[in-house]
Amino acid sequence: MSKIQAIRGMNDILPEQSLTWHYLERIFQQVVKKFGYQEIRFPVLEQTQLFKRSIGEVTDIVEKEMYSFDDRNGDNLSLRPEGTAGCVRAADQHGLLYNQQQRLWYQGPMFRHERPQKGRYRQFHQFGIEAFGMVGPDIDAEVIQLSAELWRELDLLKYLNLEINNIGSASDRKAYGAALTAFLSARTEQLDDDARRRLHTNPMRVLDSKNPQVQEALTGAPVLQDYVNEDSKSHYQALCSILDALGISYSENSRLVRGLDYYNNCVFEWTTDQLGAQGAVCGGGRYDGLVKQLGGRETPAAGFAIGIERIVLMLDSLEKVPAEELRPIDVYILAVGEGLSAQTLQLAADLRARYPGLGVISHCGGGKYNSQIKRAFACGARVAVILEQEDGSAAPPQNARLRRLDDSGAVLTLEIAQIPEQMGDFLENSGI
Ligand code: AMP
Repeated sequence: MSKIQAIRGMNDILPEQSLTWHYLERIFQQVVKKFGYQEIRFPVLEQTQLFKRSIGEVTDIVEKEMYSFDDRNGDNLSLRPEGTAGCVRAADQHGLLYNQQQRLWYQGPMFRHERPQKGRYRQFHQFGIEAFGMVGPDIDAEVIQLSAELWRELDLLKYLNLEINNIGSASDRKAYGAALTAFLSARTEQLDDDARRRLHTNPMRVLDSKNPQVQEALTGAPVLQDYVNEDSKSHYQALCSILDALGISYSENSRLVRGLDYYNNCVFEWTTDQLGAQGAVCGGGRYDGLVKQLGGRETPAAGFAIGIERIVLMLDSLEKVPAEELRPIDVYILAVGEGLSAQTLQLAADLRARYPGLGVISHCGGGKYNSQIKRAFACGARVAVILEQEDGSAAPPQNARLRRLDDSGAVLTLEIAQIPEQMGDFLENSGI
């Protein structure tokens, strides 16, 4: 029988890779905690309507990338393609937004039926933060500051560039879209099918076209900045001066529009040249209209989402995860001889109790010394504790050897009762 394989673009994350994920998750959680953000968890499945109304009917995500289906009751549901819509739905449904300020974070899998390649998957994971109830540019700056702090903690800041843009209000973009449609309508013979289709549904997406002929047709096209209202402009300028004062460098990219309809005013993206084609690692901005659009009261909001897989790729290829984070286990206890199970398990328990945070494996399944010590090496432990009966003796051993599993192979023989007390020094000398 043929074996069933995972779905294309949906990855298994194996134990060795999980160590980088854990490290990244821990640092992210430390950073959001330092900034006073609190976790919110919401379902992976939502009504399809939620995403249509928030992300936008004529975006790539909603048009062709969602995993949507009718469930057994005939309700049309979708696997979430991003987190903001579900976060807003949940926060509003539970009354967290009315007349309040909230700083929330989430993490988890998202689903988009895109063409899989390195850094782009059909199930991928995001960290996100969302801040509600704050009108001024200071919260935009805080959201960006938090992302910069994360890169600093991960030692990735120097590989990342911050791009920002002001995309104005929804009505600014509507007026601009109409001007763009009028401009391109006179040049339809230069457009491809995709661009022609978008011309009347979502003309700003034509700007993203990779087709050189379409880009040629865009020469001399109206620019969004000329349609942006004065309030948006001063908000954006204030954000820029806060970023300047904080020493956070950025470049302004007037082409940055983001693929989700709910954004307004300031949008930003962190990009890298370390990942080939999939260079965007974090995208965000302000979305003041979304809560109302989903049926809540008007609530200012800003946030971002980070692609976890892309950060994991960077951490691994740049070797930014500290060595001790990549060691799954510290001590491996092995016992050669009959009837030593209880003694081995007890010693493991004593070590774990004395050194919280120490990873201790107690060998199970018996076997000869050679096969057990091989397992100790294979699992990456730094130290093996070896309980071995004297030749021919049936009595439990009184002493055990502590052996460093590095090049030095240093050995110390101790009474078993002394091991928990002495282990600290031995580990310290082993660089643990
Ligand atoms: P978005 O929700 O489209 O603003 O994306 C935010 C971030 O999620 C991007 O900057 C990427 O890092 C990441 N991302 C988006 N789509 C994918 C995907 N298909 N696979 C992996 N990461 C993704």
